[in-house]
Amino acid sequence: MLAYTYIDKGIFGMKEKPMPMISEPKDAIVRVTLSSICTSDLHIKHGSVPRAVKGITVGHEMVGIVEQTGPEVKTVKPGDRVTVNVETFCGECFFCKNGYVNNCTDKNGGWALGYRIDGGQAEYVRVPYADQGLNRIPDNVSDEQALFVGDILATGFWAARISEITPEDTVLIIGGGPTGICTLLCTMLKKPEKIIVCEKSAERIDFIRKHYPDIIVTTPDKCHEVTINNSKHGGADKVIEVAGTEDSFNMAWKCARPNAIVTIVALYDKPQILPLPEMYGKNLTFKTGGVDGCDCAEILNLISQGKIDTTPLITHRFKLNRIEEAYHIFENHLDGVIKTAIEGI
Ligand SMILES: [Zn+2]
Ligand SMILES: [Zn+2]
Repeated sequence: MLAYTYIDKGIFGMKEKPMPMISEPKDAIVRVTLSSICTSDLHIKHGSVPRAVKGITVGHEMVGIVEQTGPEVKTVKPGDRVTVNVETFCGECFFCKNGYVNNCTDKNGGWALGYRIDGGQAEYVRVPYADQGLNRIPDNVSDEQALFVGDILATGFWAARISEITPEDTVLIIGGGPTGICTLLCTMLKKPEKIIVCEKSAERIDFIRKHYPDIIVTTPDKCHEVTINNSKHGGADKVIEVAGTEDSFNMAWKCARPNAIVTIVALYDKPQILPLPEMYGKNLTFKTGGVDGCDCAEILNLISQGKIDTTPLITHRFKLNRIEEAYHIFENHLDGVIKTAIEGI
């Protein structure tokens, strides 16, 4: 089968590999019908994910059809259309039982797919702990509608959930890329009084204005002022930081009101500094990522009810054998790309 592979730092390439096989009783093999490229794939490509294993098939956003299941898989069967969760988790350890599946104590617990174990930019993928890692897609939900459930939409849903948003809140979301927009959609479900999105790209600002006209959109240079002007208590009640730069990190706590919750979704490529003397008296609560991706069934249900729609994010479509072109466009932000959908062959 075709499998897009991390060959060496800076190099991904298409390889011919054997079909994956069931190796543990809780595994399933999924035929990938649709996958996508995530910014994390670019981090792997550029060598900034140190644990990434050379030779591994990349890709951790996908949906497909169950081809085969191990003897201990209970919740899915061959022929089921499923979302694949970015995280691998056993469902039985302390962390899993408390919903902190990102910290599952299994050796592949948390995010392993597509950088430590073979992922889904391929014709087939092996999914460990299939009862946890796969969710059946309702009949009225298309592959495209379900494509982001296991990764960026799970992340947005988790970020909105742990930010404890109330109807009185002003929520500031920093970053209007794909994960920022997924966070926005899930924040909208909580119906806070105001939502502000801070984004620097003119293309993305246009996209947000066009699709979500009720949202206040600002740029980094005006973010503090706009947030203060739209807050009742001197800053945002909840700040969700999705952008992942030094500036956006600083903006996150500076735009927060005293006693706010600041949720850090972003993955930084270097340490950030909390200037505690400057922050003294602000009494902030910080919540730091990564996602606990255990809400996929609920998310699929919301999509089925028409309450979440991420299909506008899919701006480009390619077949798997042309994934190289998709990477080129995505990596270089060409042609107004937000997300690509890669069709299986
Ligand atoms: Zn991802
Ligand atoms: Zn576990």
